Amino acid sequence: MRYLFFPTRYVGRVTALTPQRLADWGIASLLLDADCTLKRYPEPLPEEDILRWLEQTRAAGISLALVSNGLGPRISRLAGELKLPFTARAIKPLPGGVRRAMRENNMDPKHTAMVGDQLFADIWAGNLAGIQTILVDPIHPEEEHWFTRLKRPPERLMKLPLKRDDLP
Ligand SMILES: [Mg+2]
Repeated sequence: MRYLFFPTRYVGRVTALTPQRLADWGIASLLLDADCTLKRYPEPLPEEDILRWLEQTRAAGISLALVSNGLGPRISRLAGELKLPFTARAIKPLPGGVRRAMRENNMDPKHTAMVGDQLFADIWAGNLAGIQTILVDPIHPEEEHWFTRLKRPPERLMKLPLKRDDLP
């Protein structure tokens, strides 16, 4: 049960995922959720430190792709700005979008992690797809869609026993 509901790792923000740590964890590819993971829900782009992290991670040879439940036009615009391949309408927590993204981007499931802010979407989808999962704290969750906000209280409870793997 633990392996369906809980992430393999938990960090505060994606910027804690340095190339060295990813290598230590056996991760060569990252599937990235967009809203509240890379950027605030209503904003078109990530903040400066996350843009820099994307550049540095890519430069280190880590493969990156967006996997979002968001609709095509909005996510494709973001993916274009970030120069990343993307899967929109992924219907997480179902694992189909995660599997499709790995297939389309030649990512080895043994060395791929799904990164996202929602236990009941990103982490379940990654776990169901049989890959590593990394939970991050949501960026400004109070700005989200009402349906997503409904999931936050039970999610906060489930996060209580989790310890963050943040940098010292
Ligand atoms: Mg999200």
